[in-house]
Amino acid sequence: MSSSTTVPVNLAVVVPFFNEGLGAAAFLDRLRRALEAIERSGPGKIDWRVICVNDGSRDDTLKALLQARRVEPRIAVIDLSRNFGKEYALTAGLDHADADVVIAMDGDGQHPPEMMGAMLEAWRQGNDVVYMVREARDVRGLHRLLRNLFYGLFALASRTKLPPEAGDFRLMDRHVVAAIRQMPERTRFLKGIYSWVGFRQTGLKYREDARMEGRSRWCLSRLLSFAMDGLSAFSTLPLRIWSWIGAAVAGLSLLYGAWRVIRAIFWGIDVPGFETIVVSITFLGGMQLLSLGVLGSYIGRIFEEVKARPLYIVRRSYGLSEPANETGR
Ligand code: UDP
Ligand code: MG
Repeated sequence: MSSSTTVPVNLAVVVPFFNEGLGAAAFLDRLRRALEAIERSGPGKIDWRVICVNDGSRDDTLKALLQARRVEPRIAVIDLSRNFGKEYALTAGLDHADADVVIAMDGDGQHPPEMMGAMLEAWRQGNDVVYMVREARDVRGLHRLLRNLFYGLFALASRTKLPPEAGDFRLMDRHVVAAIRQMPERTRFLKGIYSWVGFRQTGLKYREDARMEGRSRWCLSRLLSFAMDGLSAFSTLPLRIWSWIGAAVAGLSLLYGAWRVIRAIFWGIDVPGFETIVVSITFLGGMQLLSLGVLGSYIGRIFEEVKARPLYIVRRSYGLSEPANETGR
């Protein structure tokens, strides 16, 4: 959905920040230079702005963002009332991004702003989404195994396709952003949401830089619960699979019972049989607890959705004309 080259293209760059006080200024400087380079080299005019979302940082991130805004008024700032998490900070930014094209990227310098020219080029060629694919990421051992397991399970359990190695660094046409805004779910598994909305999507490769300052907030347990959320948000297979397992176990025990009867008739009864009883009771008990746990996790999510709490709360925004949406739904 490219537009003609005579009217300037409205571009909004959405960046979430959480405790990035050390690197925010340098990153915004780099971002501004990349945007100015695109402005100079064309093709066509662009009218850009940057929407920084301060996700309840406990350091002086907000100060750094406001300082950058004083120098460059095209930088707007949304200050959330507390730390809601990256997915929610991004959602807040997308809700406030009223532009023809939106680019989302991390504020820690891992997503090179210099790629934006190539992304816009792919958009001009008629793509609605340009997702950025990390090249040669260096993860090994348990992490790698779990990641492959997750993508395998997800592909098996859900009809939503997740391009592996594609994250939040992406360009989206305004129609895509509008579609995402319509998705009301409180469990913001953005990877799934991005893919679920459809449109013409294409991937571009990029080399991920090292973090400029600070460190990543993702530890193993957080990644695991993120993966569970993702699976339960985009698949009901964990709920449905129990009827198949139940049917299989019931069928097998029926066969086994029949076999015991036939055996008793032809060969007489031998009393022992203790192991079979114990094994079947414990096995079935375990399966029942497991399926209860799965039910519980879905009911928990229904509870979260039914409460219909806002996705985020804006404390104050700077440089955004319309306080369109202060809480997100
Ligand atoms: N971030 C955020 N809220 C959070 C955690 C992270 O807005 O609760 C931001 C963070 O400032 C950075 C981006 O999200 O700009 C990616 O975070 P991080 O580097 O921790 O994740 P990773 O790069 O390891 O996926
Ligand atoms: Mg990072």
